[in-house]
Amino acid sequence: MNPGLPSPDAPAPGRSAPGPLRAFLYADPAAHSLSPAMHRAAFAWAGLNGEYEAVRVSPADLPGALARLRRGGVVGANLSLPHKEAALAHLDGLSEAARAVGAVNTIIHQEGRLVGENTDAPGLLQALLDWGAGSTGHREADGPVVVLGAGGAARAAVYTGLILLERDVFIVNRTRERAEELAAFWQNEDADCQAQAADLAEIPWSKVRLVVNASSAGLSNPDETPLPGFDFSALAAGALVYDMVYQPRETRLMREARAAGVRAENGLSMLAQQARLAFLAWTGVDVPVSVFLGALGGEK
Ligand code: NAP
Repeated sequence: MNPGLPSPDAPAPGRSAPGPLRAFLYADPAAHSLSPAMHRAAFAWAGLNGEYEAVRVSPADLPGALARLRRGGVVGANLSLPHKEAALAHLDGLSEAARAVGAVNTIIHQEGRLVGENTDAPGLLQALLDWGAGSTGHREADGPVVVLGAGGAARAAVYTGLILLERDVFIVNRTRERAEELAAFWQNEDADCQAQAADLAEIPWSKVRLVVNASSAGLSNPDETPLPGFDFSALAAGALVYDMVYQPRETRLMREARAAGVRAENGLSMLAQQARLAFLAWTGVDVPVSVFLGALGGEK
């Protein structure tokens, strides 16, 4: 699915070293991350002696922290805010997805080399497939994807819609210029699918079967929504509203979509899938996503 990820048969990079396999999360702040619970559960399920630690790393300390990943026994790390883009310059190689998205959420240690990967995009893809929102191969019938937001998560979502799902993408953002910049990044007259910035009134909603909220509207705020006053009945029959936000578990966007009879899911499944893919890249073990979801207190 993602050419940057090793096959499940590939040897675990750090396994030859004595002692536990070690992986880290570098973020600032890092204390409330859900990643340690997921990866510790995965190590236990896989029967591997492994440790996963969330470390608060400031932007100034990032180069030194990355250098420490080259040590024996370290299989890699996850990166979260504010390091996903800043790390690119310090790595020895990038996967196709990391280069295209312009962000790294997973680093894989391969015999002293650090390879940057992006498992957010294939994680989102897998979550969407699991919720039945894949493409049928008939672009007209599938309709365009609407991505809300224009930050780092939106870049992964646009890559997922445009490249992995092969659908046209409309980007809607509070600050329209940022949506235009993101669309311009993907400008390619020769490509079959196109990304374009749009206001709500410009979108042919009756053809839209997938809306992805990649904005932080609704994050920790149950009253906030990226689509205030939106008429969800305008969406195509069978549409899915996928909210990358997972705290709270049901956002106002989801609540209002469901009230109009539209399917809506939160971002826990993407969070679990990106962790599954990172763990697979580090260890070669494809742990079932239910293990990661279980550690999040959720289930599919
Ligand atoms: P970011 O780079 O800071 O971008 C935030 C985006 O949200 C911007 O486009 C911003 O618009 C928009 N926004 C913020 N508040 C808004 C509001 N009240 N109304 C409308 N738009 C608003 O953040 P990010 O890294 O892309 O993350 C975005 C969200 O995705 C976060 O909630 C994050 O937790 C989630 N996420 C989830 C997963 C997962 O695995 N489920 C993975 C990655 C990210 P402006 O340009 O106008 O400021």
